[in-house]
Amino acid sequence: MHLAVVDPGWSLQAWRERARAAFTAGVAPEHLQWDSDAQLGLALASPLPEVSEAGSAVTVPAALLELAGAVVCHRDPGRHALLYRLLWRVAQGERRLLERATDPDVVTATALGGAVRRDSHKMKAFVRFRQSGVGEDAYVAWFEPDHWILDRVSPFFARRFAGMRWAILTPYRSVRWDGQALAFGPGGVRTDAPAEDAQEELWRTYYANIFNPARLNPTMMRQEMPQKYWKGLPEATLLPSLLRDAGGRVRDMAKREPQAPRRRIPQRRIEAVPQEDGGLAAARALAADCRRCPLWEPATQTVWGEGPEDARLMFIGEQPGDAEDLTGRPFVGPAGALLDRAFADAGIDRAAVYLTNAVKHFRFQQRGKVRLHQRPDAGHVRACHAWLQREIGTVRPDAIVCLGATAAAAVFGAGFRLTGQRGAWHTLGNGVRAMATVHPAWVLRQPAAAQAAAYRGLVEDLRAGNEGRAGALEGSG
Ligand code: SF4
Repeated sequence: MHLAVVDPGWSLQAWRERARAAFTAGVAPEHLQWDSDAQLGLALASPLPEVSEAGSAVTVPAALLELAGAVVCHRDPGRHALLYRLLWRVAQGERRLLERATDPDVVTATALGGAVRRDSHKMKAFVRFRQSGVGEDAYVAWFEPDHWILDRVSPFFARRFAGMRWAILTPYRSVRWDGQALAFGPGGVRTDAPAEDAQEELWRTYYANIFNPARLNPTMMRQEMPQKYWKGLPEATLLPSLLRDAGGRVRDMAKREPQAPRRRIPQRRIEAVPQEDGGLAAARALAADCRRCPLWEPATQTVWGEGPEDARLMFIGEQPGDAEDLTGRPFVGPAGALLDRAFADAGIDRAAVYLTNAVKHFRFQQRGKVRLHQRPDAGHVRACHAWLQREIGTVRPDAIVCLGATAAAAVFGAGFRLTGQRGAWHTLGNGVRAMATVHPAWVLRQPAAAQAAAYRGLVEDLRAGNEGRAGALEGSG
Protein backbone atom coordinates (compact mmCIF):
# COMPACT_ATOMS: atom_id res chain seq x y z
CA MET A 1 0.00 0.00 0.00
CA HIS A 2 1.30 3.48 -0.92
CA LEU A 3 0.50 6.87 0.55
CA ALA A 4 -0.01 10.07 -1.48
CA VAL A 5 -0.13 13.37 0.39
CA VAL A 6 -1.59 16.38 -1.43
CA ASP A 7 -0.46 19.59 0.22
CA PRO A 8 -2.32 21.87 0.15
CA GLY A 9 -5.30 19.62 -0.41
CA TRP A 10 -7.02 22.06 -2.82
CA SER A 11 -4.01 22.39 -5.14
CA LEU A 12 -4.52 20.81 -8.55
CA GLN A 13 -0.78 21.05 -9.13
CA ALA A 14 -0.02 19.12 -5.91
CA TRP A 15 -2.59 16.43 -6.77
CA ARG A 16 -1.21 16.10 -10.32
CA GLU A 17 2.32 15.59 -9.01
CA ARG A 18 1.20 12.80 -6.65
CA ALA A 19 -1.05 11.24 -9.27
CA ARG A 20 1.76 11.31 -11.84
CA ALA A 21 4.15 9.65 -9.37
CA ALA A 22 1.62 6.93 -8.54
CA PHE A 23 0.72 6.28 -12.15
CA THR A 24 4.36 6.17 -13.27
CA ALA A 25 5.08 3.67 -10.48
CA GLY A 26 2.12 1.60 -11.70
CA VAL A 27 0.20 1.92 -8.41
CA ALA A 28 -3.45 0.94 -8.94
CA PRO A 29 -6.15 3.00 -7.18
CA GLU A 30 -6.94 0.20 -4.73
CA HIS A 31 -3.31 0.20 -3.56
CA LEU A 32 -3.09 3.94 -2.97
CA GLN A 33 -4.22 5.84 0.10
CA TRP A 34 -4.62 9.59 -0.16
CA ASP A 35 -3.78 11.94 2.71
CA SER A 36 -7.12 12.68 4.31
CA ASP A 37 -8.62 9.20 3.81
CA ALA A 38 -5.40 7.38 4.84
CA GLN A 39 -5.40 7.95 8.58
CA LEU A 40 -5.99 4.33 9.56
CA GLY A 41 -3.41 2.89 7.23
CA LEU A 42 -0.83 5.64 7.63
CA ALA A 43 1.73 3.53 9.50
CA LEU A 44 1.55 0.74 6.92
CA ALA A 45 1.71 2.83 3.76
CA SER A 46 4.94 3.68 1.98
CA PRO A 47 5.45 7.07 0.31
CA LEU A 48 5.45 7.30 -3.46
CA PRO A 49 8.73 7.72 -5.30
CA GLU A 50 9.38 11.21 -6.68
CA VAL A 51 9.00 11.49 -10.43
CA SER A 52 10.02 14.29 -12.78
CA GLU A 53 7.66 16.03 -15.18
CA ALA A 54 9.47 14.32 -18.04
CA GLY A 55 8.82 10.95 -16.41
CA SER A 56 5.07 11.33 -16.73
CA ALA A 57 3.52 8.43 -18.60
CA VAL A 58 -0.06 9.67 -18.92
CA THR A 59 -1.74 12.36 -20.97
CA VAL A 60 -4.74 13.81 -19.16
CA PRO A 61 -7.70 14.83 -21.35
CA ALA A 62 -8.52 18.53 -21.03
CA ALA A 63 -12.07 17.79 -19.82
CA LEU A 64 -10.78 15.65 -16.96
CA LEU A 65 -8.24 18.27 -16.02
CA GLU A 66 -10.91 20.94 -16.00
CA LEU A 67 -13.17 18.79 -13.83
CA ALA A 68 -10.26 17.93 -11.52
CA GLY A 69 -9.50 21.65 -11.04
CA ALA A 70 -12.96 22.09 -9.50
CA VAL A 71 -13.26 18.74 -7.67
CA VAL A 72 -9.92 19.12 -5.88
CA CYS A 73 -11.35 22.24 -4.13
CA HIS A 74 -14.28 20.28 -2.64
CA ARG A 75 -14.23 19.46 1.06
CA ASP A 76 -15.05 15.80 0.41
CA PRO A 77 -12.09 13.80 1.86
CA GLY A 78 -12.46 11.18 -0.88
CA ARG A 79 -11.96 13.59 -3.78
CA HIS A 80 -8.28 12.84 -4.44
CA ALA A 81 -8.92 9.10 -4.62
CA LEU A 82 -11.96 9.67 -6.85
CA LEU A 83 -9.93 11.76 -9.29
CA TYR A 84 -7.17 9.16 -9.37
CA ARG A 85 -9.70 6.44 -10.13
CA LEU A 86 -10.98 8.48 -13.06
CA LEU A 87 -7.45 9.12 -14.27
CA TRP A 88 -6.52 5.44 -13.97
CA ARG A 89 -9.57 4.27 -15.88
CA VAL A 90 -9.05 6.84 -18.66
CA ALA A 91 -5.41 5.76 -18.96
CA GLN A 92 -6.48 2.09 -19.07
CA GLY A 93 -8.46 2.78 -22.22
CA GLU A 94 -11.78 4.34 -21.12
CA ARG A 95 -11.00 7.53 -23.06
CA ARG A 96 -14.64 8.62 -23.23
CA LEU A 97 -15.36 7.87 -19.59
CA LEU A 98 -16.57 11.40 -18.76
CA GLU A 99 -19.30 11.07 -21.39
CA ARG A 100 -20.88 8.18 -19.44
CA ALA A 101 -23.20 10.29 -17.36
CA THR A 102 -24.50 7.32 -15.33
CA ASP A 103 -21.10 6.01 -14.25
CA PRO A 104 -20.98 6.29 -10.42
CA ASP A 105 -17.51 7.92 -10.37
CA VAL A 106 -18.52 10.38 -13.10
CA VAL A 107 -21.79 11.17 -11.29
CA THR A 108 -19.94 11.88 -8.02
CA ALA A 109 -17.19 13.93 -9.65
CA THR A 110 -19.72 15.97 -11.63
CA ALA A 111 -21.69 16.70 -8.46
CA LEU A 112 -18.59 17.74 -6.53
CA GLY A 113 -17.38 19.94 -9.40
CA GLY A 114 -20.82 21.56 -9.67
CA ALA A 115 -20.87 22.34 -5.94
CA VAL A 116 -17.45 24.01 -6.17
CA ARG A 117 -18.47 26.06 -9.21
CA ARG A 118 -21.63 27.21 -7.43
CA ASP A 119 -19.62 28.17 -4.37
CA SER A 120 -17.16 30.08 -6.57
CA HIS A 121 -20.02 31.91 -8.25
CA LYS A 122 -21.49 32.88 -4.85
CA MET A 123 -18.12 34.18 -3.72
CA LYS A 124 -17.81 36.37 -6.82
CA ALA A 125 -21.33 37.69 -6.23
CA PHE A 126 -21.33 38.20 -2.47
CA VAL A 127 -17.86 39.35 -1.45
CA ARG A 128 -18.19 42.94 -0.17
CA PHE A 129 -15.03 44.96 0.39
CA ARG A 130 -14.97 47.51 3.18
CA GLN A 131 -12.49 50.28 3.74
CA SER A 132 -9.97 49.03 6.28
CA GLY A 133 -9.98 52.34 8.19
CA VAL A 134 -10.99 55.97 7.83
CA GLY A 135 -8.92 57.49 5.03
CA GLU A 136 -7.22 54.15 4.38
CA ASP A 137 -6.57 53.20 0.79
CA ALA A 138 -7.11 49.47 1.36
CA TYR A 139 -10.19 47.26 1.48
CA VAL A 140 -10.95 44.06 3.34
CA ALA A 141 -13.71 41.51 2.85
CA TRP A 142 -14.84 38.57 4.94
CA PHE A 143 -16.26 35.47 3.26
CA GLU A 144 -17.09 31.95 4.44
CA PRO A 145 -16.92 29.57 1.48
CA ASP A 146 -18.32 26.05 1.65
CA HIS A 147 -15.22 24.63 -0.06
CA TRP A 148 -11.49 25.36 -0.49
CA ILE A 149 -12.04 27.90 -3.28
CA LEU A 150 -10.01 30.95 -2.27
CA ASP A 151 -7.02 30.14 -4.51
CA ARG A 152 -9.36 29.27 -7.37
CA VAL A 153 -11.39 32.51 -7.23
CA SER A 154 -8.73 35.05 -6.18
CA PRO A 155 -7.44 35.67 -9.74
CA PHE A 156 -10.97 36.84 -10.63
CA PHE A 157 -10.81 39.55 -7.96
CA ALA A 158 -7.25 40.49 -8.99
CA ARG A 159 -8.50 41.11 -12.53
CA ARG A 160 -11.71 42.82 -11.47
CA PHE A 161 -10.19 45.11 -8.82
CA ALA A 162 -6.70 45.44 -10.23
CA GLY A 163 -6.42 49.10 -9.18
CA MET A 164 -7.37 48.53 -5.54
CA ARG A 165 -5.34 47.19 -2.62
CA TRP A 166 -7.52 44.57 -1.00
CA ALA A 167 -7.60 41.43 1.13
CA ILE A 168 -10.15 38.65 1.46
CA LEU A 169 -10.25 36.78 4.75
CA THR A 170 -11.83 33.36 5.15
CA PRO A 171 -11.77 30.99 8.13
CA TYR A 172 -9.11 28.76 6.54
CA ARG A 173 -6.94 31.10 4.46
CA SER A 174 -6.53 34.71 3.38
CA VAL A 175 -5.30 36.47 0.27
CA ARG A 176 -3.93 39.96 -0.28
CA TRP A 177 -3.55 41.94 -3.49
CA ASP A 178 -1.09 44.86 -3.55
CA GLY A 179 -1.82 45.86 -7.13
CA GLN A 180 0.91 43.56 -8.43
CA ALA A 181 0.61 40.06 -7.02
CA LEU A 182 -1.56 37.81 -4.88
CA ALA A 183 -0.11 36.70 -1.54
CA PHE A 184 -1.80 33.94 0.45
CA GLY A 185 -1.65 33.65 4.23
CA PRO A 186 -3.41 32.11 7.21
CA GLY A 187 -7.16 32.35 7.78
CA GLY A 188 -8.83 34.71 10.21
CA VAL A 189 -12.02 35.42 12.08
CA ARG A 190 -14.93 37.60 11.09
CA THR A 191 -13.93 40.41 13.45
CA ASP A 192 -10.60 40.80 11.62
CA ALA A 193 -12.52 42.48 8.80
CA PRO A 194 -14.21 45.92 9.17
CA ALA A 195 -17.89 45.66 10.06
CA GLU A 196 -19.03 48.65 8.02
CA ASP A 197 -17.63 51.65 6.15
CA ALA A 198 -18.76 55.08 5.05
CA GLN A 199 -19.85 53.93 1.58
CA GLU A 200 -22.49 51.56 2.86
CA GLU A 201 -25.16 54.10 3.71
CA LEU A 202 -24.87 55.37 0.16
CA TRP A 203 -25.17 51.86 -1.25
CA ARG A 204 -28.21 51.13 0.95
CA THR A 205 -29.93 54.33 -0.20
CA TYR A 206 -29.31 53.36 -3.81
CA TYR A 207 -30.44 49.76 -3.25
CA ALA A 208 -33.67 50.88 -1.56
CA ASN A 209 -34.34 53.22 -4.47
CA ILE A 210 -33.87 50.62 -7.18
CA PHE A 211 -35.68 47.83 -5.30
CA ASN A 212 -38.84 47.06 -7.26
CA PRO A 213 -41.41 45.26 -5.07
CA ALA A 214 -43.44 44.27 -8.17
CA ARG A 215 -40.55 42.12 -9.37
CA LEU A 216 -39.95 40.42 -6.04
CA ASN A 217 -39.88 36.63 -6.00
CA PRO A 218 -38.87 35.68 -2.43
CA THR A 219 -38.32 31.98 -3.27
CA MET A 220 -36.02 32.77 -6.16
CA MET A 221 -34.33 35.49 -4.12
CA ARG A 222 -33.54 33.08 -1.28
CA GLN A 223 -32.23 30.53 -3.77
CA GLU A 224 -29.99 33.04 -5.49
CA MET A 225 -29.00 34.90 -2.35
CA PRO A 226 -29.04 32.32 0.48
CA GLN A 227 -29.46 33.81 3.92
CA LYS A 228 -25.99 32.63 5.02
CA TYR A 229 -24.47 35.37 2.81
CA TRP A 230 -26.66 38.15 4.12
CA LYS A 231 -24.40 38.92 7.04
CA GLY A 232 -21.73 40.18 4.63
CA LEU A 233 -24.08 42.33 2.52
CA PRO A 234 -24.68 46.00 3.43
CA GLU A 235 -28.15 45.84 1.86
CA ALA A 236 -29.09 42.85 4.03
CA THR A 237 -30.30 45.11 6.85
CA LEU A 238 -32.90 46.49 4.44
CA LEU A 239 -34.10 43.16 3.08
CA PRO A 240 -36.46 42.12 5.92
CA SER A 241 -38.39 45.40 5.76
CA LEU A 242 -38.31 45.52 1.95
CA LEU A 243 -39.63 41.95 1.81
CA ARG A 244 -42.24 42.63 4.49
CA ASP A 245 -43.53 45.81 2.84
CA ALA A 246 -43.34 44.57 -0.75
CA GLY A 247 -46.92 43.23 -0.89
CA GLY A 248 -48.43 46.47 0.41
CA ARG A 249 -46.32 48.57 -1.93
CA VAL A 250 -47.39 46.51 -4.93
CA ARG A 251 -51.08 46.84 -3.93
CA ASP A 252 -50.62 50.60 -3.55
CA MET A 253 -48.97 50.80 -6.94
CA ALA A 254 -51.81 48.84 -8.54
CA LYS A 255 -54.46 51.09 -6.96
CA ARG A 256 -52.70 54.31 -7.94
CA GLU A 257 -53.74 55.97 -11.17
CA PRO A 258 -50.87 56.37 -13.63
CA GLN A 259 -49.47 59.84 -13.05
CA ALA A 260 -48.68 61.69 -16.20
CA PRO A 261 -45.87 64.13 -15.50
CA ARG A 262 -47.21 67.68 -15.30
CA ARG A 263 -46.30 69.30 -18.58
CA ARG A 264 -44.83 72.76 -18.48
CA ILE A 265 -43.94 73.12 -22.11
CA PRO A 266 -45.87 75.62 -24.18
CA GLN A 267 -46.71 74.69 -27.72
CA ARG A 268 -44.71 77.43 -29.48
CA ARG A 269 -42.01 76.04 -31.81
CA ILE A 270 -38.53 77.57 -31.85
CA GLU A 271 -36.07 76.22 -34.42
CA ALA A 272 -32.98 78.32 -33.75
CA VAL A 273 -31.39 79.52 -30.54
CA PRO A 274 -31.91 83.28 -30.49
CA GLN A 275 -28.70 85.14 -29.91
CA GLU A 276 -30.09 88.07 -27.91
CA ASP A 277 -28.13 89.01 -24.88
CA GLY A 278 -29.77 89.14 -21.50
CA GLY A 279 -27.82 86.71 -19.43
CA LEU A 280 -28.69 83.27 -18.23
CA ALA A 281 -32.22 84.10 -17.13
CA ALA A 282 -33.13 85.21 -20.65
CA ALA A 283 -31.53 82.14 -22.23
CA ARG A 284 -33.28 79.90 -19.74
CA ALA A 285 -36.65 81.44 -20.63
CA LEU A 286 -35.97 80.84 -24.32
CA ALA A 287 -34.84 77.26 -23.76
CA ALA A 288 -38.11 76.52 -21.95
CA ASP A 289 -39.78 76.65 -25.37
CA CYS A 290 -37.10 74.77 -27.29
CA ARG A 291 -38.17 72.30 -29.98
CA ARG A 292 -34.80 71.84 -31.66
CA CYS A 293 -34.97 68.07 -31.18
CA PRO A 294 -37.75 65.59 -30.35
CA LEU A 295 -36.76 65.15 -26.71
CA TRP A 296 -38.96 68.02 -25.56
CA GLU A 297 -42.15 66.16 -26.36
CA PRO A 298 -42.36 63.34 -23.81
CA ALA A 299 -40.38 65.25 -21.16
CA THR A 300 -41.92 67.34 -18.41
CA GLN A 301 -39.82 70.46 -18.83
CA THR A 302 -36.47 71.87 -19.89
CA VAL A 303 -33.91 71.43 -17.13
CA TRP A 304 -31.64 74.42 -17.33
CA GLY A 305 -28.31 74.82 -15.53
CA GLU A 306 -28.07 76.08 -11.98
CA GLY A 307 -25.49 78.21 -10.20
CA PRO A 308 -24.03 81.73 -10.04
CA GLU A 309 -23.65 83.51 -13.36
CA ASP A 310 -20.06 84.34 -12.41
CA ALA A 311 -19.14 80.82 -11.21
CA ARG A 312 -15.45 80.02 -11.80
CA LEU A 313 -16.00 76.30 -12.12
CA MET A 314 -18.61 74.60 -14.31
CA PHE A 315 -19.71 70.96 -14.25
CA ILE A 316 -21.48 69.45 -17.23
CA GLY A 317 -23.41 66.18 -16.99
CA GLU A 318 -25.20 64.11 -19.60
CA GLN A 319 -28.93 64.89 -19.32
CA PRO A 320 -31.58 65.28 -16.62
CA GLY A 321 -32.86 62.09 -14.99
CA ASP A 322 -36.34 61.28 -13.71
CA ALA A 323 -36.06 63.41 -10.55
CA GLU A 324 -34.51 66.31 -12.46
CA ASP A 325 -37.24 66.18 -15.10
CA LEU A 326 -39.94 66.37 -12.44
CA THR A 327 -38.31 69.11 -10.33
CA GLY A 328 -36.74 71.12 -13.15
CA ARG A 329 -33.35 71.20 -11.37
CA PRO A 330 -30.08 69.46 -12.39
CA PHE A 331 -28.45 66.80 -10.21
CA VAL A 332 -31.16 66.30 -7.60
CA GLY A 333 -31.68 62.52 -7.98
CA PRO A 334 -29.52 59.66 -6.65
CA ALA A 335 -26.57 60.65 -8.87
CA GLY A 336 -26.93 64.23 -7.64
CA ALA A 337 -26.85 63.05 -4.03
CA LEU A 338 -23.63 61.19 -4.74
CA LEU A 339 -22.20 64.23 -6.50
CA ASP A 340 -23.05 66.43 -3.49
CA ARG A 341 -21.18 64.05 -1.27
CA ALA A 342 -18.22 63.89 -3.64
CA PHE A 343 -18.18 67.71 -3.81
CA ALA A 344 -17.99 67.84 -0.02
CA ASP A 345 -15.15 65.30 0.04
CA ALA A 346 -13.31 67.21 -2.69
CA GLY A 347 -13.71 70.55 -0.88
CA ILE A 348 -16.08 72.03 -3.48
CA ASP A 349 -19.02 74.24 -2.52
CA ARG A 350 -21.98 73.28 -4.72
CA ALA A 351 -23.52 76.72 -4.26
CA ALA A 352 -20.42 78.33 -5.82
CA VAL A 353 -20.26 76.27 -9.02
CA TYR A 354 -22.40 76.12 -12.14
CA LEU A 355 -24.03 72.76 -12.85
CA THR A 356 -25.67 71.87 -16.11
CA ASN A 357 -26.17 69.09 -18.65
CA ALA A 358 -25.15 68.62 -22.26
CA VAL A 359 -28.79 67.82 -23.12
CA LYS A 360 -31.58 69.72 -21.39
CA HIS A 361 -34.47 67.29 -21.72
CA PHE A 362 -34.87 63.85 -20.14
CA ARG A 363 -34.66 61.02 -22.68
CA PHE A 364 -36.39 57.90 -21.42
CA GLN A 365 -38.28 54.79 -22.35
CA GLN A 366 -41.68 54.23 -20.71
CA ARG A 367 -41.98 50.72 -19.22
CA GLY A 368 -45.34 50.49 -17.50
CA LYS A 369 -45.25 53.20 -14.88
CA VAL A 370 -41.48 53.43 -14.86
CA ARG A 371 -39.42 55.78 -17.02
CA LEU A 372 -36.09 54.16 -17.86
CA HIS A 373 -33.13 56.40 -18.63
CA GLN A 374 -31.99 56.31 -22.25
CA ARG A 375 -28.74 57.82 -23.33
CA PRO A 376 -29.18 60.79 -25.68
CA ASP A 377 -27.76 60.18 -29.13
CA ALA A 378 -25.31 62.37 -31.04
CA GLY A 379 -28.16 64.23 -32.80
CA HIS A 380 -29.67 65.31 -29.47
CA VAL A 381 -26.27 66.45 -28.19
CA ARG A 382 -25.71 68.43 -31.40
CA ALA A 383 -29.14 70.04 -31.23
CA CYS A 384 -28.66 71.07 -27.63
CA HIS A 385 -25.10 72.27 -28.06
CA ALA A 386 -26.19 75.82 -28.80
CA TRP A 387 -27.73 76.06 -25.32
CA LEU A 388 -24.61 74.69 -23.70
CA GLN A 389 -22.52 77.22 -25.60
CA ARG A 390 -24.79 79.99 -24.34
CA GLU A 391 -24.19 78.84 -20.78
CA ILE A 392 -20.42 78.55 -21.21
CA GLY A 393 -20.24 81.87 -23.07
CA THR A 394 -22.27 83.67 -20.42
CA VAL A 395 -20.67 82.18 -17.31
CA ARG A 396 -17.16 82.13 -18.80
CA PRO A 397 -15.78 79.81 -16.09
CA ASP A 398 -12.05 79.34 -15.52
CA ALA A 399 -12.44 75.59 -15.83
CA ILE A 400 -14.99 73.00 -16.93
CA VAL A 401 -15.29 69.44 -15.66
CA CYS A 402 -17.27 67.10 -17.92
CA LEU A 403 -19.06 64.31 -16.07
CA GLY A 404 -19.28 61.28 -18.33
CA ALA A 405 -18.68 60.46 -21.97
CA THR A 406 -21.71 62.35 -23.36
CA ALA A 407 -20.68 65.62 -21.72
CA ALA A 408 -17.09 65.08 -22.85
CA ALA A 409 -18.24 64.49 -26.44
CA ALA A 410 -20.34 67.68 -26.28
CA VAL A 411 -17.34 69.75 -25.14
CA PHE A 412 -14.38 68.09 -26.90
CA GLY A 413 -16.04 66.50 -29.92
CA ALA A 414 -17.21 63.03 -30.86
CA GLY A 415 -13.65 61.63 -31.12
CA PHE A 416 -12.97 62.11 -27.40
CA ARG A 417 -12.42 58.83 -25.50
CA LEU A 418 -13.03 59.05 -21.78
CA THR A 419 -11.19 55.81 -21.04
CA GLY A 420 -7.95 57.12 -22.53
CA GLN A 421 -8.20 60.82 -21.62
CA ARG A 422 -9.89 60.89 -18.25
CA GLY A 423 -8.42 63.62 -16.03
CA ALA A 424 -6.27 65.18 -18.79
CA TRP A 425 -6.55 68.96 -19.15
CA HIS A 426 -7.28 70.58 -22.51
CA THR A 427 -7.66 74.23 -23.46
CA LEU A 428 -10.77 74.96 -25.49
CA GLY A 429 -10.94 77.43 -28.35
CA ASN A 430 -12.34 80.10 -26.00
CA GLY A 431 -9.34 79.69 -23.66
CA VAL A 432 -11.28 77.79 -20.96
CA ARG A 433 -9.49 74.78 -19.45
CA ALA A 434 -11.52 71.59 -19.45
CA MET A 435 -11.17 68.00 -18.37
CA ALA A 436 -13.44 64.95 -18.16
CA THR A 437 -14.17 62.33 -15.55
CA VAL A 438 -16.88 59.74 -14.96
CA HIS A 439 -20.52 60.56 -14.30
CA PRO A 440 -21.70 59.96 -10.70
CA ALA A 441 -24.40 57.63 -12.08
CA TRP A 442 -21.59 55.41 -13.38
CA VAL A 443 -20.24 55.17 -9.83
CA LEU A 444 -23.70 54.09 -8.62
CA ARG A 445 -23.88 51.43 -11.32
CA GLN A 446 -20.65 49.76 -10.19
CA PRO A 447 -20.96 46.52 -8.23
CA ALA A 448 -20.91 47.16 -4.48
CA ALA A 449 -17.39 45.81 -4.16
CA ALA A 450 -16.07 48.30 -6.73
CA GLN A 451 -18.03 51.35 -5.60
CA ALA A 452 -15.57 52.60 -3.03
CA ALA A 453 -12.70 52.71 -5.52
CA ALA A 454 -14.93 54.25 -8.21
CA TYR A 455 -16.14 56.90 -5.79
CA ARG A 456 -12.61 57.65 -4.65
CA GLY A 457 -11.53 58.11 -8.28
CA LEU A 458 -14.39 60.55 -8.87
CA VAL A 459 -13.48 62.60 -5.78
CA GLU A 460 -9.83 62.74 -6.85
CA ASP A 461 -10.86 63.99 -10.29
CA LEU A 462 -13.21 66.62 -8.82
CA ARG A 463 -10.43 67.80 -6.57
CA ALA A 464 -8.11 67.98 -9.58
CA GLY A 465 -10.83 69.94 -11.40
CA ASN A 466 -11.00 72.42 -8.55
CA GLU A 467 -7.21 72.70 -8.46
CA GLY A 468 -7.15 73.11 -12.24
CA ARG A 469 -9.49 76.06 -11.82
CA ALA A 470 -7.09 77.53 -9.25
CA GLY A 471 -4.22 76.91 -11.70
CA ALA A 472 -6.12 78.76 -14.39
CA LEU A 473 -6.58 81.72 -12.03
CA GLU A 474 -2.88 81.82 -11.20
CA GLY A 475 -2.05 81.58 -14.89
CA SER A 476 -4.38 84.45 -15.72
CA GLY A 477 -3.06 86.72 -12.91
S1 SF4 B 1 -32.90 68.50 -25.62
FE1 SF4 B 1 -32.04 70.50 -25.99
S2 SF4 B 1 -32.25 70.80 -28.17
FE2 SF4 B 1 -33.59 69.10 -27.62
S3 SF4 B 1 -35.54 70.10 -27.25
FE3 SF4 B 1 -34.51 69.95 -25.32
S4 SF4 B 1 -33.47 71.90 -25.04
FE4 SF4 B 1 -34.01 71.69 -27.18
